[in-house]
Amino acid sequence: MPNEVKVKVMKAAAPRERTLREKAYIPEIARGLRITAAHFWGNLFIHIKRLFGIRTKERGSVTYQYPEERRPLSPRVRTLHRLVKREDGSPRCVACMMCETICPAKCIYIIGADHPDPNIEKHPLQFDIDLGVCVFCGLCVEACPEDAIRMDTGILEFSAYSREGMIYHMKDLLR
Ligand code: SF4
Ligand code: SF4
Repeated sequence: MPNEVKVKVMKAAAPRERTLREKAYIPEIARGLRITAAHFWGNLFIHIKRLFGIRTKERGSVTYQYPEERRPLSPRVRTLHRLVKREDGSPRCVACMMCETICPAKCIYIIGADHPDPNIEKHPLQFDIDLGVCVFCGLCVEACPEDAIRMDTGILEFSAYSREGMIYHMKDLLR
């Protein structure tokens, strides 16, 4: 047979039979707690030694003291959307619907209208993004021909008490 492709089928390893001790759960839970506690107290001890000026080769684990201290974000990270403004404060968006069309989560809702300026074809009357549905893929930013939508606000913490609260309107997005 011409161009026959041979495929080697690998058999998945059978899962290991759990021991009686593992099946009982309690000893394993106790073992996990013991390991966690050992790390916690060991780390605390290193920090206490350093606090009292005792020189030690060991470096205790440190963490960011969130929310007072925040981890620096990469310039490439995608954060909360913003609609770019023109000099007069109006949105640069021309309601071309490219972002709404490409959005895989279908969470952008735009209503466009003719722009009062004859040099600009359209502008958005309504521009909503449902951040409760958005997957932060950044395709809306990539698709925009006017560089009118960006994800560079650096804002990562946004929450709401309701699903409706996660819908950001044009006034929230214009920055
Ligand atoms: S980031 Fe992705 S999912 Fe979110 S609004 Fe833009 S295109 Fe839609
Ligand atoms: S792609 Fe850009 S210009 Fe077009 S509707 Fe979206 S934000 Fe507006």
